[in-house]
Amino acid sequence: MAPPYPRELVRSLEFIADVCNRRREGELTTAASLRRLCAEWGFPGTSTVTKADAEATWAVLPTIERMWDADRDTVAALVNRVFEQSDARPRLARHDDSDWHLHGLPAGAPLADVIAVDAAMALADLVRLDDLARCSRCADDRCERMFFDLSRNRSRRFCSTRCQSRTNVAAFRARHPSAPRDAAARD
Ligand SMILES: [Zn+2]
Ligand SMILES: [Zn+2]
Repeated sequence: MAPPYPRELVRSLEFIADVCNRRREGELTTAASLRRLCAEWGFPGTSTVTKADAEATWAVLPTIERMWDADRDTVAALVNRVFEQSDARPRLARHDDSDWHLHGLPAGAPLADVIAVDAAMALADLVRLDDLARCSRCADDRCERMFFDLSRNRSRRFCSTRCQSRTNVAAFRARHPSAPRDAAARD
């Protein structure tokens, strides 16, 4: 199957990439910063995020990053482990202005488990569709940002135009070591 993917699936994947990227870049360090990010994404029930919730969330991010990068069989095993460890009990829900969608855990479950199970459900979809290649990382060696590649032939290489042009400039300088520094901009 090719995109367009369901909006909920894309949102879940972009959310987990954003959480992992911001944590890696030192932007997410406190319960308040996690609460703000979750609110930005419209993540439900996060107004009471505590320090313990935040610490439990930081602890599940390495597993999420592994699921993002691993090969299909490994992702399948990791997804199953997350479901088991978080005691996931998927059920269909419909609330506010959203149509029927899956909740992995009952209301009131710990935020870290909700995030991990949500990530596992999204990655389970990509395992079934055999389209994990869209879970990408920026090709700039100084940037490890995760992004979900929605291009038609999975050809997106950079997290942003900033990383893309920085890489182009570096490549230009490598080819033309004696060029004036602003000449790269015209390459
Ligand atoms: Zn919901
Ligand atoms: Zn980048």
